[in-house]
Amino acid sequence: MTRYTDLIVEAANRLQDADVPNPDIDAWELFAFAFRMDKKEYLMRMSEEAKDEEGVARYAEAIDLRCKRIPLQHITGEQGFMGLTFHVNEDVLCPRQDTETLVEVALQRLLPGMHVLDLCTGSGCILISLLALAQDITGVGVDISEKALIVARENAWINRIDAEFLQGDLFAPVKGERFDMIVCNPPYIPSAVIPKLMPEVRDHEPRQALDGDRDGLAYYRKITAQAHKYLKRGGYLIFEIGIGQRDAVAQMLFMNGYRDMICYRDYSENERVMLGRLE
Ligand code: GLN
Repeated sequence: MTRYTDLIVEAANRLQDADVPNPDIDAWELFAFAFRMDKKEYLMRMSEEAKDEEGVARYAEAIDLRCKRIPLQHITGEQGFMGLTFHVNEDVLCPRQDTETLVEVALQRLLPGMHVLDLCTGSGCILISLLALAQDITGVGVDISEKALIVARENAWINRIDAEFLQGDLFAPVKGERFDMIVCNPPYIPSAVIPKLMPEVRDHEPRQALDGDRDGLAYYRKITAQAHKYLKRGGYLIFEIGIGQRDAVAQMLFMNGYRDMICYRDYSENERVMLGRLE
């Protein structure tokens, strides 16, 4: 007899053999997805015979995909972020825990009535979280990828959030508008580093959302050069940054008229968010 617990052990072994990082965690997550079982139900039923044939088939298929290094979130179709649930697919970067730091920094500065721009919005997770968690603000999300915006609009709908998502290159769709805050998690991986990323990221996430050109800083340059035209005086420009990018980004902000720069670390202690205030 095959028990539910045996299925998880066997799946974890298969994932381990396929060099999947965190095989135990992924074996559990995909189990919960395939059998639609939460931890509490599993703990009560783990020694029962696994009679749910559809679930068994779904689980086997999910583990096959994960062994091919398909991202976990593409198999389950969702990712949690800031306590909300976001739909994801290969057209958007999966929401990362690191990016919650950017949302938390923005939340500290948002006041009722403020208007926020989220550039390179992707799945929309940053803007939608801000609109869900801050009181009485409005926001616009922009992305160059129409396919990403389909996901972002779906995420707004799933989370019952009223957000505007516009297609275009950086500031092009918001010409003439002024915001109290601009937040942005741009592509910031240097092009030469991309081939060395994990296969999940390298082969299954959109390169357009990762590639920050030769030194990874191309979007910070373009955005800091233009953002003052779209920010109110005293407004905040808040970036997610990659490892080692702090000084270069702080310098760009300074040269473009921003002051009071603060760098924040994420939960892994990496310098992850840079904030500047327009003079
Ligand atoms: N932090 C992401 C990664 O390491 C990259 C995100 C980005 O380029 N904005 O995969």
